[in-house]
Amino acid sequence: MERKPLIVANWKMYLSAKESILVAQSFVKMLRDEPVDIIISPSYPLLSAMKEICEGTSVEVAAQDIHFLESGAYTGDVSVGEVKDFVRHVIVGHSERRKYHGDTDEIVALKTKLALKNGIHPIVCVGESFEEHESGATIEIIREQVNRVLVDLSLLDFPRITFAYEPVWAISAGPGLEAKQPEAQEVAEIINLIRKIISGAGGNKYMDKMRVLYGGSVTAKTVKTFVSEPGVDGALVGGASTKPAELVAIIREVALLV
Ligand code: PEP
Repeated sequence: MERKPLIVANWKMYLSAKESILVAQSFVKMLRDEPVDIIISPSYPLLSAMKEICEGTSVEVAAQDIHFLESGAYTGDVSVGEVKDFVRHVIVGHSERRKYHGDTDEIVALKTKLALKNGIHPIVCVGESFEEHESGATIEIIREQVNRVLVDLSLLDFPRITFAYEPVWAISAGPGLEAKQPEAQEVAEIINLIRKIISGAGGNKYMDKMRVLYGGSVTAKTVKTFVSEPGVDGALVGGASTKPAELVAIIREVALLV
């Protein structure tokens, strides 16, 4: 089964409002008819502006997170209802949300379910910490994180989910600060494991339909190493995606593999 490659640009909290708009405008101008799906994920206040900039292009917009409840007394949080007019996608389970905001596997599962209920496609990040990696616990951690998301879902929802395997230790702490990189083969093995877990939960049909990405300090120089591995459907890119030329270069590297 052919899955179209996907590049997700996660701008985290890197850019000001003005910078985000300039980056997005210049990025969409550089695009041709790319054989790659593209999603950009700015901070909440920029979602409306990004929707306008991306209108009529092939670029779609994602929120970087949502609260796990529909609404309530949660100052500073953002609900699915507040983003759903602007986005088709949402990132959930990012390691920075797990680390700094206490998102557990249970909370990530609730966010995934809520996004799906509201017609938004979740991009679910999973990955082990450095200590878990070093102690040989990666497989167990990935199994727990993926199964916890899938266990409560209807099979019909499966194809609307994208998983991103992001070893926490490979994620950059800031633009230009590249972290340690796993071997491409190691990434392919974990992505293959994620497909097996999907298959265990829903059967081969779903395993073949769902995209699984890699994320961790990916740049235009390194993306090919990972995405040319069988089963790796694209990349979730943080720091490098905030520079329009670099983001386009990443997309073009992936396009060459199609
Ligand atoms: C990320 O945001 O998930 C990520 C992988 O960031 P970076 O590419 O900067 O490591």
